[in-house]
Amino acid sequence: MKYGIIGYSGRMGQAIEELFSEAGYELVYQKDENGEKEIEKPEVIIDFSLKEAFSDTVRVIEEKEVPLVIGTTGLDEEDFTKLDQLAEKAPVIQSFNFSIGINILSELIKKVNQYVDQDWDIEISETHHRFKKDKPSGTAIMLGDLLDREVEMHSKRLGSEFGEHEVDFASTGEVLTLKHRAYSREAFTRGVLMSAEAILELEPGFYTFSQILSDQT
Ligand code: NAD
Repeated sequence: MKYGIIGYSGRMGQAIEELFSEAGYELVYQKDENGEKEIEKPEVIIDFSLKEAFSDTVRVIEEKEVPLVIGTTGLDEEDFTKLDQLAEKAPVIQSFNFSIGINILSELIKKVNQYVDQDWDIEISETHHRFKKDKPSGTAIMLGDLLDREVEMHSKRLGSEFGEHEVDFASTGEVLTLKHRAYSREAFTRGVLMSAEAILELEPGFYTFSQILSDQT
């Protein structure tokens, strides 16, 4: 596979390149805040950059009409409308969290949500490394959207934590805690690799990582 990375020099960009080169794939396009370099047209572009770079990512994908795997967080409704437009021409796979564990956690949350009534308190907590810019994390927002009510969210930015998410469900007599912790960026890059391989076979359209995962399991 010949691929490109937007956000190439970032923490995720570097981890993605490492895993993709182990898999024998060739980086032919790269872009970051300092500019872009193209050796040849990529078959797929992977974007792990920043919300501020999103309009530029849209321009690149429109120009090249290539599939996009995007994990950048902080995107808003307007950005998702843009992704839908891009998806009319070439497939787009988006997730605020490409880890398999978080996607299993999502399924568990949907299940618990069926059992807890308004008498239960529900709160979401997340901890990430000190360099993470958005707050609460995209994953916390994604998990919150699975519940049928607004919930309190708590964020900590500490040291080099890769990403911890906890959802507490409590009544006056008991508490149920669901927790996920990523202890390396490989938690995400494996899902990105799976998505980049899958996207080459997909028709144009907007897909989430959990759809890709459920098709493969
Ligand atoms: P980082 O700050 O280390 O890297 C950001 C990258 O974006 C850098 O390469 C920077 O040069 C580049 N960039 C900045 N402005 C740009 C522009 N205008 N055009 C192109 N590139 C530009 O951040 P990170 O830790 O690598 O995370 C990157 C993104 O991925 C963040 O949004 C983060 O929240 C998200 N993330 C998502 C997942 C997931 O599973 N979806 C997992 C981890 C991180």
